[in-house]
Amino acid sequence: MKKQFVDLDNAREEDQKELMREIVEAGHCPFCLENFKLYNSQPTIKEGKYWFLIENKWPYKYTKIHLLAIYKLHATNLAELDSASGKELLDLMKWAEKEYKVLGGGWVMRFGDTNYSAGTVNHIHVQFIQPDLDSADYKPVRIKLGKG
Ligand SMILES: [Zn+2]
Repeated sequence: MKKQFVDLDNAREEDQKELMREIVEAGHCPFCLENFKLYNSQPTIKEGKYWFLIENKWPYKYTKIHLLAIYKLHATNLAELDSASGKELLDLMKWAEKEYKVLGGGWVMRFGDTNYSAGTVNHIHVQFIQPDLDSADYKPVRIKLGKG
C-alpha cells in the first residue's frame, strides 16, 4: 500500500478532493518541495531557512486573509521541527501581520495523526487567518481539531 500524505476525509471542497485523489494515486506529499509545484500554483510570498509562505489555495469561508507557512522539510510531528524554526515562524507571522495590515486573527499549527489533528495534508504547516467581518453572511471562523 502506498504511503498516504493527505487525508481525504478532512478535505472541504469538491475540487480539493479531486486533486487529493490524484495526489494519493501518485503517492506524493503535496507540500514537499519536490512536489509542491505539481499541485500548487500560488507564488511564494516569502521564504526563510525553515518556512515558506503562500496564500491558501482553498481559504476557509469568512476569511479575509488566509496564508499558509509550510515547513521546508517533510515533517509531521513537532519533534521533527528544528526549535530554531519557531523563532523564524514568529518572525514570519510578525511580517505578515504588518505586510497585510492585519488588525487581528489567529494562527494555528496542526500536527501528527490526522484523526486527531483533522489536517488534510500531513506535512507541518501553519494557517494564518484574519476573519472577514465585512462578508455579507459573516460567521466566525472555526478551526476544527479531531476528525468528525
Ligand atoms: Zn511533505
